[in-house]
Amino acid sequence: ESCLARIKTQDAAYNSFITVTEELALEQARTADSLRAAGKAGIFTGLPLAHKDIFCTQGVRTSCASRMLDNFIAPYDATLVRKFNEAGAVTLGKTNMDEFAMGSSNESSFYGPSRNPWDTDRVPGGSSGGSAAAIAARLVPAATGTDTGGSIRQPAALCGITGLKPTYGRVSRYGMIAFASSLDQAGPMARTAEDAALMLNVMAGFDPMDSTCVDQDVPDYSASLNDSLEGLRIGLPREYFADNLDPAIAEQVQNAIREFEKLGASVREISLPNTALAVPAYYIIAPAEASTNLSRFDGVRYGYRCDNPVDLEDLYKRSRGEGFGDEVKRRIMVGTYALSAGYYDAYYRKAQQARRLIQQDFIQALTEVDVIMGPTTPQPAFRIGEKSADPVQMYMEDIYTLALNLAGLPGMSVPCGLAQGLPVGLQIIGNYFAEAKLLNVAHRFQ
Ligand code: GLN
Repeated sequence: ESCLARIKTQDAAYNSFITVTEELALEQARTADSLRAAGKAGIFTGLPLAHKDIFCTQGVRTSCASRMLDNFIAPYDATLVRKFNEAGAVTLGKTNMDEFAMGSSNESSFYGPSRNPWDTDRVPGGSSGGSAAAIAARLVPAATGTDTGGSIRQPAALCGITGLKPTYGRVSRYGMIAFASSLDQAGPMARTAEDAALMLNVMAGFDPMDSTCVDQDVPDYSASLNDSLEGLRIGLPREYFADNLDPAIAEQVQNAIREFEKLGASVREISLPNTALAVPAYYIIAPAEASTNLSRFDGVRYGYRCDNPVDLEDLYKRSRGEGFGDEVKRRIMVGTYALSAGYYDAYYRKAQQARRLIQQDFIQALTEVDVIMGPTTPQPAFRIGEKSADPVQMYMEDIYTLALNLAGLPGMSVPCGLAQGLPVGLQIIGNYFAEAKLLNVAHRFQ
């Protein structure tokens, strides 16, 4: 009740929720009360959470922040929603995001932008900006997010919270509305690594409903949080401390690295030579996959349908034309072009080759060091409207985050100080399935 009251009185300033599920929350809270009374409470029993509005929630609108799904009531729960429900968590609502998770600022939401609690003239980042803003504003202790090219880590950095993108395949994608299926991964967003570890304990694991979900044991992520960092080898990629990096961000990140040295870690420079290929490769692959995934929104099966179509083609055209926003249409056009006969080899195939080179850079670097560190974003939170006129400028927000999705590796963002009074994120990248190590490293720092 106190969380719901806080959302009611304060969220007008942040617009971090698309839907508040008051009835469901109170019902789940009552169940949690009786479990507690019966001595059957676990860690998550009665714990309030919010889910990004990309995860299907049975009986509750799941909009993906699109007009296309404004009227869509999900008929089932996403696997991770079900897992949190079974663990006894209380769902407060569904958080704001960029439309279909396409964006880095939350400005492409059909429901209007979410705002950064540190300065409400600024963006909270995206696409999981609503989850980050709600946590930063203390409306909810933790929330779920998804990360296709940085959408957990970048908003975590801009809002001064902790976010983890797990290894591709660690968390089920069942019931998570697909953007770019070979890159999408769900993960926890919370105040601290300790809280993120508790969440990942619930989220991670095999799911027969997702064919890309990996059948591998799930460690207890909380158990190794306090392990010593003595001898930890940290690599700093030369390419991440160049060009467009704001010197105030670089300074905070360097300060953080010194803290790790005090904890017994050794630091060396490394190179990820194909870093410059990441943005162009991603912005072919992600739109290509999006263009096929979004073909299901045809005005027939579910979602928005235009008024009085004259024939089937008119129904398709106007439903999609009226239902999708500008950024989504841009991606569908770019992706369809890149996949079309005659262009496939020049664009899609080429991008996949670049992807392999990027992955090999990381695999090579991670034989020399245990973790890679750098900034999460090139600048702190920018003003609403500042980058929305130029899509390419917006895409550059992701220069340090999206290579990891192309490689399938896990990464975290943890708060590491302020630049111009705004939060700075330290990014920590690890090897496949090294989430426990990342959480340990982040926790010792926090
Ligand atoms: N900003 C990137 C994009 O617009 C990443 C988004 C995401 O991770 N969902 O595609």
